[in-house]
Amino acid sequence: MTRIVYVNGSYVPEHQATVSIFDRGFLMADGVYEVTSVLDGKLIDYAGHMKRLDRSLDQLAISNPLTVPQWLELHRRLVRDNNISNGIVYLQVTRGNPGDRDFKFPSKDVVPTVVAFTQSKPDLANPPAVEVGWKVISIPDQRWARRDIKTVQLLYPSMGKMMAVHAGVDDAWFVEDGNVTEGTSNNAYIIVRDKLITRQLGNEILHGITRSAVIQFASESGLQIEQRPFSIQESLSADEAFVTSASAFVMPVVEIDGQSIGNGSPGRLTKKLRETYLARMRQSAI
Ligand code: PMP
Repeated sequence: MTRIVYVNGSYVPEHQATVSIFDRGFLMADGVYEVTSVLDGKLIDYAGHMKRLDRSLDQLAISNPLTVPQWLELHRRLVRDNNISNGIVYLQVTRGNPGDRDFKFPSKDVVPTVVAFTQSKPDLANPPAVEVGWKVISIPDQRWARRDIKTVQLLYPSMGKMMAVHAGVDDAWFVEDGNVTEGTSNNAYIIVRDKLITRQLGNEILHGITRSAVIQFASESGLQIEQRPFSIQESLSADEAFVTSASAFVMPVVEIDGQSIGNGSPGRLTKKLRETYLARMRQSAI
């Protein structure tokens, strides 16, 4: 089956979808994106992703080209037309095509470019990695300083992922000024006794939609929440560690820089948080 994608108002087979070479997303990474998971054909934490999309666009002074109902229709139609049971919907909005290359933002008449597509991931909710947990390495955080905006400028995170691949592990945790900021494409956490520790919100990290739900569920389950910087050294002496993202949900981390966390297998509280997260999100999925 040919995948049907969305480009600037049209639903077309993927090979027919085109964007100009002058698009600022292509030339300057001048654009933002969102990824929403789909479980059993329904959108997970959709409202949160749409809210963050608005915030990212607002920070870059790009006006949102679609209305609230149009975004929902787009998501539902792509899920339906591509028969997605489990997977993701990726959307991207760029500042559009000014017809030439120039550092200055074009006038407001240039319409933003919108593309969106699905990726089917049958084992999204139960990937084999959850049973063993991820191994990560720490690497310097060399991204730009506005990581709170979900831009398509993902070169350094890609390089970080390749450093992980070359080191034979699953992912990398970024470290800045001696503390962990986040993973290449996820937020990072440690658990020490009954305390869940994760970096506070700021420009240094993406404000994860999964993070916000997981903190709420953790707090309801009786964990104390500490939102503050933590180091790799503190992580190595933690009882458990994990990461969160819209597509990995809650993923245990069992090793950092070759050293085991706890007993080297996914932690009990991490597993519980993952189960709670999935159960609650399935209940509120739309
Ligand atoms: N941090 C970074 C750098 C990310 O790329 C992502 C996922 N896009 C996250 C955190 C997790 O955010 P969310 O839970 O909204 O997917």
